[in-house]
Amino acid sequence: MHATIESTLLTQADQKFVESLFKRYYLEKAGTVYVPEKISEREFGYFPFEEKTMIRHLYIESSEKLGEFLIKNNPLHVYHSAAFYKYPGAPMEEKEWIGAELAFDIDADHLKTPCRKKHDFKVCSKCFITYPAQVDRCSKCGGVLTDVEWVCELCLEAAKQETRKLLDFLERDLGFKKIRIVFSGNRGYHIVVMDEEVLELGQQERKEIVDYITGTGISLRIMGLIEDPKKDRATQISGPDISDPGWRGRIARASVQLALVTNASELSELLSIDHRQVEKYTDVLRQHSEEWSERCAWDTLPRNMVKILGEAAVKYASAKIDVVVTSDIHRLIRLANTLNGKSGLIAKIIQLNELEDFDPFFQATALPYDRTVDIHVLKSPGFKMLGEEFGPYENTSTRLPVSVAVLLILKNLASISKPSAN
Ligand SMILES: [Zn+2]
Ligand SMILES: [Zn+2]
Repeated sequence: MHATIESTLLTQADQKFVESLFKRYYLEKAGTVYVPEKISEREFGYFPFEEKTMIRHLYIESSEKLGEFLIKNNPLHVYHSAAFYKYPGAPMEEKEWIGAELAFDIDADHLKTPCRKKHDFKVCSKCFITYPAQVDRCSKCGGVLTDVEWVCELCLEAAKQETRKLLDFLERDLGFKKIRIVFSGNRGYHIVVMDEEVLELGQQERKEIVDYITGTGISLRIMGLIEDPKKDRATQISGPDISDPGWRGRIARASVQLALVTNASELSELLSIDHRQVEKYTDVLRQHSEEWSERCAWDTLPRNMVKILGEAAVKYASAKIDVVVTSDIHRLIRLANTLNGKSGLIAKIIQLNELEDFDPFFQATALPYDRTVDIHVLKSPGFKMLGEEFGPYENTSTRLPVSVAVLLILKNLASISKPSAN
């Protein structure tokens, strides 16, 4: 959902190859692209293949014009504003803001999944050499390296998990009904609330929603998880219970889940506290695991542990959204059902009941799979597309389905040109 995406550095042959595939896609599928409500009040923007800056402040008056626009401009990435404007095509200060949908971005990149250590690396796209993630410059040309934003099944599952948590907040706590869920086409999900009542919310009000969803400023004292100095020390802890509504129930359910993790290193990571300290806790939790499996057994724990568990539960139960995106009332968001220029996958709209089984490398593939192309792969972790396994590759020339080749090319990991003599 980032409006300032750096364009991918491709060789001319690779660019031409991908460009022609995008072109054919829009010629055939422009009609399947999502048409934002009140399209004529939206700002549009896009990255052409050959440029590194976004062309924005565009105005498109109808769904027909949107189709024509996509075919004519063949964008690498295309966006529209979550906002409605009186003059969407005017410069920012003259647009006259009318309202905006409430947008959320969940990106695996922000989730710090432990697998990233294994699959993240860097590449010098000029010299076509890979480097470990901690290196900053190419030893051959001295150029700045590009991060390879690989995304594995675990990363995608983590993003899905955060999406589920977010939807629970939006539907159950906040009562929103018109919600659009879109796979970003790369590493995450975009969730957009379109209910009438959110449209006029200002930045500050959107920030309050962000705070609610991220659990910012929750008082553990009000929840009964921190001792009230005014009360007798001997009073029983009456913390939240799993059947409580809203955040109380959320904290209770998360606490039960955490309390049943009796593996010290796993718990240490979840609670982000020292390993040695955690061992003391796991001992206590192990003793009371039977009680915790049935209820929130706050009274079985020492006071300081109640506080730590409560804090961890807030962290665990909050949804890890990109807070900047949601409070920005002028945000551009990726146009749904268009191709993502970082992967060649579709930024696909999914129905709520499809989220559980949604597999991007299955349902979001769009480019030809039955045609193959010769390609040189610099490096790639192993992955699956349409159920078939590919890689891992390391300096390999091979023949791959077009959609697989495009994914690797757009991640700067492969080229249809012959590798230069390095
Ligand atoms: Zn280099
Ligand atoms: Zn991963």
